[in-house]
Amino acid sequence: MRFASLGSGSRGNATLVQQGDTLLMVDNGFSIKETDKRMAKFGVCGGDVSAILVTHEHGDHLGGVVRYASRYDIPVWASHGTATMIKKLETVQCFNSHKPFDIGGFSIEPVLVPHDAREPTQFVFRTNDLQFGVMTDTGSITQHMVDVLMDCDALLLECNYDRDMLINGAYPESLKRRVLGDWGHLDNQQAIELLQRINTDKLQHLVLAHVSEKNNSHDLVLDRVSMAIQCDRAWLKVIDQDDGLAWCELTTNIKSKETLHA
Ligand SMILES: [Zn+2]
Ligand SMILES: [Zn+2]
Repeated sequence: MRFASLGSGSRGNATLVQQGDTLLMVDNGFSIKETDKRMAKFGVCGGDVSAILVTHEHGDHLGGVVRYASRYDIPVWASHGTATMIKKLETVQCFNSHKPFDIGGFSIEPVLVPHDAREPTQFVFRTNDLQFGVMTDTGSITQHMVDVLMDCDALLLECNYDRDMLINGAYPESLKRRVLGDWGHLDNQQAIELLQRINTDKLQHLVLAHVSEKNNSHDLVLDRVSMAIQCDRAWLKVIDQDDGLAWCELTTNIKSKETLHA
C-alpha cells in the first residue's frame, strides 16, 4: 500500500491511496488543471483513479470532486448525508457510515467525526496486512476514533491550529468560535492527545495535515508532536498546501517508529 497527498489545508485537500491497480482519491478541493498537474508530479493520472471518496461537503474537500469525476468518469462514494450535498452528479454511491465496504483490494472503514457538516466521515483503509488512517476535519476526539485508529501502520492526522495563535490572530470572532468548537478542527494539543491514546509504536509514517497557514506553522507542529511522542523530528512529515506530499510506502517489514528508536 502507498499514499500521497496533492495538498492539504483550507485551500484544498486531496489524498491518494493505492494498492495494486486500485487507486483511490479521498476528496478533491482543486481545479481539474491543478489536480492533473499535481497527479502528474506523482506519476499518476485521472484515468488511473478507481473511485473518489468524499469525507464531507466543505469546499476544500468537495469543491473539485464533481468536475474531476465527470471529466474522467470516476465513481464517487460518500455517506448518505454527504451525498445529499453533492449536486450536479447523476449517481453517488452511498456507503453506510457504520459499516466497512470494499473497493478493489481495500476494505474501507468510515469513521464518523464531530464536524459541522451533514454526515462527515474520515476513513481507515485496510489491505490484508496493513492499515492506513486518515483523520482530519474533526472538532473533538471520540472514543470511537481512538478505537479505530489504535493500531494503524500509517496515520494522516489533522494539526489545524495553535490555540494561542488562533485566539490572538486576525480571524473574525465567529470563525474563531467555529474552529475552536467541538465541531470545528483539531488543534496541535488535541492531535497530541489523540496520538497519546493510540499505539504509535507501529506507525511507519505519521503525516500531519490540514495545517492552517495563518494560525499554525510547520515548525511548531514538528516541535510539538516530536516532543510529545518522543520521535525524531525528521521522521515526521507535514503536508504542504502547495507541494503536497510524495508517495509514502507501507510494507509489512519496514522500520517503524519503534524499531527506529529502539
Ligand atoms: Zn477541511
Ligand atoms: Zn470541513
